[in-house]
Amino acid sequence: MAAKKLTKNEIKKLKKSLELEKKAAWPGLKTSERNTVLEWCNEYIDFLSCAKTERETVRHIKEVVEKGGFKPAEDARPGTGRVFWTFRDKVAAAAVLGKQGPESGIRLIASHIDAPRLDLKIHPLYEELGMALLKTHYYGGIKKFHWVATPLALHGVVVTANGDSVNICIGEDDSDPVLMVNDLLPHLSRKVQGSKKIGDAIPAEKLNVLAGGFPIAGPEDTKDAVKLNVLRLLNEKYGITEADLVSAELELVPSGRARDAGIDRAFVCGYGQDDRSCAWASLQALLDLKKPSVTGVAIFLDKEEIGSDGNTGAKSKFLEKIYFDLFRLTGTKTGPDTLLNALLGTEAISADVTAAIDPDYQEVHDKRNNAMAGHGICLKKYTGHGGKYAANDASAEYVGRIRRTWDTAGVSWQAGSMGKVDEGGGGTVAKYLAALGMNIVDAGPPLLSMHAPWEIAHKVDLYMTYRGYRAFFEM
Ligand code: MN
Ligand code: MN
Repeated sequence: MAAKKLTKNEIKKLKKSLELEKKAAWPGLKTSERNTVLEWCNEYIDFLSCAKTERETVRHIKEVVEKGGFKPAEDARPGTGRVFWTFRDKVAAAAVLGKQGPESGIRLIASHIDAPRLDLKIHPLYEELGMALLKTHYYGGIKKFHWVATPLALHGVVVTANGDSVNICIGEDDSDPVLMVNDLLPHLSRKVQGSKKIGDAIPAEKLNVLAGGFPIAGPEDTKDAVKLNVLRLLNEKYGITEADLVSAELELVPSGRARDAGIDRAFVCGYGQDDRSCAWASLQALLDLKKPSVTGVAIFLDKEEIGSDGNTGAKSKFLEKIYFDLFRLTGTKTGPDTLLNALLGTEAISADVTAAIDPDYQEVHDKRNNAMAGHGICLKKYTGHGGKYAANDASAEYVGRIRRTWDTAGVSWQAGSMGKVDEGGGGTVAKYLAALGMNIVDAGPPLLSMHAPWEIAHKVDLYMTYRGYRAFFEM
């Protein structure tokens, strides 16, 4: 039987009830909500500006949770409702204990607080042509050309011969010098750079930072007099020697504060928004939790950008430690399968950013399936590359549960994947946590210029990420 011809009005109704409408988040907000978004982002900008390394982020998270009444898990007595952990100064976590015991699972939001950067090499300092320089080794997925001819700051820790830890920060205060990797002038770079592929144009061994140009006052034939002068200055200010740089973690990051971007201030420009945007959003969501039914945990991981390896990455045992502490704090009787059952019963979000469709490079995106800046938090059923290799592919049921939660809570959200299938791709911590048995799905804000020294996020996406995480903890 042929279907009856529909009127214009009926078509309109049918479209509304059947078609998925992709909407920008901002127009649907009341003026008061818009102001809340802007205020929320101001605090976020302050956080980004003072948390530029994983260690600084851990320190900052610790301050925030302590202010929020959280107690260190190691000293907490059974019955304590709000606890936090720091681990090797590079990982943190915080929990709000729920009415249900942790043995049947927790709600976990896992973000990472490491970001692409230039690390100093083991023996960084040398002198060449009357200039002192520092050799670097890049960390994570960078485009090397981003890191030349741009002001950098040196952040990190040096452990001296007698075991003292010395915090270093050069290049953030207005009165500080900045550090620069120089680039070749265009007049002479036609062959050595211009004729090469962009990824080969600047070899890693040329990412050396200018550190000095004044020779030490002394006999004119003093060897490496400029290098010695730099060492003298470092020793005066920090009490360190060249040998101490062997036991150090020194990171070069873009100098300066995060700030508003765009004439209308719709965006945040900041270093390390992958993934500190999710770290901040999940921390704020957890702080809002009062007495949840299920225990909420936010974990802030290191080493995601280089494969989640090492004793501070997602593959480390830190997560298990959290579960055991939760068992202890709730007086849970544990047997050989308690941890396994808790892991299997856990619902999680891998809190990480995704790529926003770039108006200038639309050819690498699938416009129908990728995230739009300004359309809210993006739910990614799967990540990975090629034929879903290295993917965590969340179940339809779990995606359905998250979707219902966000719709009920009025969260502006979108669903998407990253880029065209054959174009590349990338993973998150989701697959490592999924391997432990929990239900997990990726969700976070879309970014422009992801992994560049200054990344761009739409303010409404940042705020909706926080709202999405809060609704998840409360679901
Ligand atoms: Mn990330
Ligand atoms: Mn990344």
